Amino acid sequence: MPSSKGYAALSAQSALAPYAFARRDPGATEIAVEVLYCGVCHSDLHMTRNEWGNAIYPMVPGHEIVGRVIAAGSGVTRFKAGDIAAIGVIVDSCRKCAPCSIGEEHFCDEGATLTYAAPDLVDGSITMGGYSNNYVVDERFAHTVPANLNMAAVAPLLCAGITTYSPLRHWKVGPGKKVGIVGLGGLGHMGLKFAHSFGAHVVQFTTSTKKREDALKLGANEVVLSTDPEAMKAHTKSFDFILDTVSAPHALDAYLPLLKQDATMTLVGLPEVPPSFAVFNLIARRASIAGSMIGGMPETQQMLDYCGQHNIVSEVEVIRIDQINEAFERLLKQDVKYRFVIDMSSLG
Ligand code: NAP
Ligand code: ZN
Ligand code: ZN
Repeated sequence: MPSSKGYAALSAQSALAPYAFARRDPGATEIAVEVLYCGVCHSDLHMTRNEWGNAIYPMVPGHEIVGRVIAAGSGVTRFKAGDIAAIGVIVDSCRKCAPCSIGEEHFCDEGATLTYAAPDLVDGSITMGGYSNNYVVDERFAHTVPANLNMAAVAPLLCAGITTYSPLRHWKVGPGKKVGIVGLGGLGHMGLKFAHSFGAHVVQFTTSTKKREDALKLGANEVVLSTDPEAMKAHTKSFDFILDTVSAPHALDAYLPLLKQDATMTLVGLPEVPPSFAVFNLIARRASIAGSMIGGMPETQQMLDYCGQHNIVSEVEVIRIDQINEAFERLLKQDVKYRFVIDMSSLG
């Protein structure tokens, strides 16, 4: 491969800075892509600052990748040089276990290989993510992109998109269902768009008064300020499903009483400190708290195709790579509408 370069964190305390490294040439079933756009997920911030305790440095983050194929191995069937390809949160798995065999590679018994900061199954190196000029991946872990969609706005679908699409499908969100989305950030705004598109009655919960108008434009039927106890109480025992995308520590007790009997609140947000809740709020309605993580390869492709058919993309603010540290700080202040995406041509 031509030399690889990107932006890396060298420790939990250091800002991201230019970094050069090497990637292998693509093998028989692999493609190499030139990264065009990479979304900035809150997980990149959690990871580079080692908030989950599993960081490996140097760390080149980035797992919402849209790129152009620059080389394809002899056995590659779905891509050729010049095609657009997308890569998400995982880039490999054992490919043999029960979850892998049904396309749920993210639940691989051996543990799926993350796009960055994980041991590579092929060459043992540590994976480096999409805040970089290129990537090498097996075609099984790459996706085709509908041609009608804006490429920069597609990038966030690879994590924010599938992470909300998958649980909304799994818990059968659709017409006749009242659904709550907690947090209007990168994941939240995609959850809102999908739940609206699936035909549900969608209530957006937010802590940011200034996001109300946007939420309505993005498809919310109602917007509730979650810090207003009276506004919350008005929705008691009325929700079929609530999806929590919040990135910071928070209590679930304001939301659990809003579930109908036997309904589910699913967590996708991964705050450094887990959310707390009172068990009484569960037993009082036989409610469930569940979790969900990204999606498998077939469902990710299905989500992208659905977005192509329904013209769904992320709301993005395109930035240069040298703005990434400022973008992280703005992400922490809830100051992004609604996903930063790095234009990788700015890497120079
Ligand atoms: P984000 O863009 O920063 O959005 C998070 C939202 O949470 C904010 O926009 C804000 O919404 C709300 N929020 C922030 N601080 C809050 C606080 N103190 N109290 C209440 N609400 C608060 O982040 P993201 O990229 O969407 O990621 C969200 C979380 O999902 C992260 O923890 C990330 O690591 C995780 N994640 C999980 C998966 C998975 O597979 N499960 C995949 C990707 C990401 P309002 O301003 O509307 O209140
Ligand atoms: Zn992510
Ligand atoms: Zn497996």
